[in-house]
Amino acid sequence: MASVQIHDVRKSFGGFEVLHGVSVPIEDGQFVVLVGPSGCGKSTLLRMLAGLEKITSGTISIGDRVVNDVQPKERDIAMVFQNYALYPHMTVAQNMGFSLKLRGADKSEIDQKVNRAADILDLRRLLERFPRQLSGGQRQRVAMGRAIVRDPQVFLFDEPLSNLDAKLRVAMRAEIKELHQRLKTTTVYVTHDQIEAMTMADKIVVMQDGIVEQMGAPLELYDRPENKFVAGFIGSPA
Ligand code: ADP
Ligand code: MG
Repeated sequence: MASVQIHDVRKSFGGFEVLHGVSVPIEDGQFVVLVGPSGCGKSTLLRMLAGLEKITSGTISIGDRVVNDVQPKERDIAMVFQNYALYPHMTVAQNMGFSLKLRGADKSEIDQKVNRAADILDLRRLLERFPRQLSGGQRQRVAMGRAIVRDPQVFLFDEPLSNLDAKLRVAMRAEIKELHQRLKTTTVYVTHDQIEAMTMADKIVVMQDGIVEQMGAPLELYDRPENKFVAGFIGSPA
């Protein structure tokens, strides 16, 4: 686990600025939800946390370390994407162990960590199956399993549930929250779904057009939105 500091981060693509100085302090173990309309810069910010996109200016720190120039695989972070492409030719166990293998772990260490993750996610019976033999929810759990095997300091989720049907989405929300309560890993979770934000977050960060409009606990934003946008997005109907 670790705190994460996003300080005055800007991002331009070819001279066009899409993030205009975003600052978000994240406490150790917090579950932070970034929410806002499509195109407001959520994924870009998450990709910069993961090191997949370079920061134009500002700083990102994980724990005590400024990570602006740290390569993705040198960051102790695991990311779950919206299109959680599992490797079709690998079993569940191989999918989950692959990132450990890439990092040079030996077989007994991989087995031990994969089994631990499988226990947490109730995947033990499915370890020898292939992705095509799994339901949507099971695949989603395998994608989470791939993230937790490394026991990272930080989890990043980019709209992980948006491809699932409504019923499964509600169930997976609860699973992700339970996982967080159990592991207490610092988490940054992106969604454009207000209900997801309200039900999952310790802290919600409302973004629009590359800026943070407001951040705070769900009820704080609901009861005391600071402007019309936040009120319209998650505020109380009063
Ligand atoms: P969100 O995840 O909130 O929907 P994104 O972070 O994907 O938003 O995108 C924010 C803005 O940055 C959008 O205007 C998008 O078109 C632009 N953008 C994202 N990635 C690139 C890129 N690689 N090149 C150019 N523009 C990009
Ligand atoms: Mg996005």
